Amino acid sequence: MKVLIVIAHPEPKSFNAAMYQEAIKTLEEEGHEVKTSDLYRMNFNPVSDRNNFTTVKNTAYFSQQNEEHFAYENNGFASDVLAEQDKVLWCDLMIWQFPLWWFSVPAILKGWVDRVFAMGKFYDNGRMYDTGLLKGKKALLSITTGGPEKNYTTAKYGSTDQVLHPIQTGILEFVGFSVLPLEIHCSIERIEDEKRKEILEKWSNRLKDIFTEPVVTADK
Ligand SMILES: Cc1cc2nc3c(=O)[nH]c(=O)nc-3n(C[C@H](O)[C@H](O)[C@H](O)COP(=O)(O)OP(=O)(O)OC[C@H]3O[C@@H](n4cnc5c(N)ncnc54)[C@H](O)[C@@H]3O)c2cc1C
Repeated sequence: MKVLIVIAHPEPKSFNAAMYQEAIKTLEEEGHEVKTSDLYRMNFNPVSDRNNFTTVKNTAYFSQQNEEHFAYENNGFASDVLAEQDKVLWCDLMIWQFPLWWFSVPAILKGWVDRVFAMGKFYDNGRMYDTGLLKGKKALLSITTGGPEKNYTTAKYGSTDQVLHPIQTGILEFVGFSVLPLEIHCSIERIEDEKRKEILEKWSNRLKDIFTEPVVTADK
């Protein structure tokens, strides 16, 4: 199968990077084809504006979704955006590896979505969720948090499902992905090294059977 792994972490020796490297190694050993988007190492530009496009529909007023439609119809996406769209369209499974930052994805990953997940190409009027244009693909979030697990059982923080709802449902399911159970590791800086090594081993074992795992996406 074809797997795209997207990582958003500035430090190549981070634990997130270790999870990312483990995933590449395991999936390749299992015979899958792997492509990657290491957003910091690519120096990916996360700022969404007219530079997303080589075409211009309206010179007087910039409406991103109108320009996306026009670019889709006229082969007008900028090369960096197009390259990422091609990888997403290519994959059967997309994995995002990131640290939870301000209850969300790091800005570089949000910017990747803002620029790459274009109207007309990934979703459209009346083409979302069950009829989203990426229907049939699976997605998996693999995240770490600084806060301990117990925080994410309190009303103040909300559950991890609540925290990640805008990402799992508002982005991934919206364009048609079915979402696999979350891979989450809390207090990652404060646990023992041995425990982190165990996490990497369990992650590798999980990935060996990842294509047989049931999704958590409900029919919408
Ligand atoms: C801007 C910002 C916002 C944040 N917002 C939130 C938030 O909303 N909620 C929240 O809970 N947290 C938040 N945090 C904390 C953040 O989620 C954690 O700092 C992050 O998840 C830690 O992951 P890391 O990969 O950066 O850890 P690292 O610090 O890179 O790694 C942790 C430890 O693992 C070690 N390690 C690396 N590789 C290996 C290996 N192969 N085997 C064993 N050990 C290894 C490292 O040496 C280090 O000691 C925020 C942090 C920032 C900077």
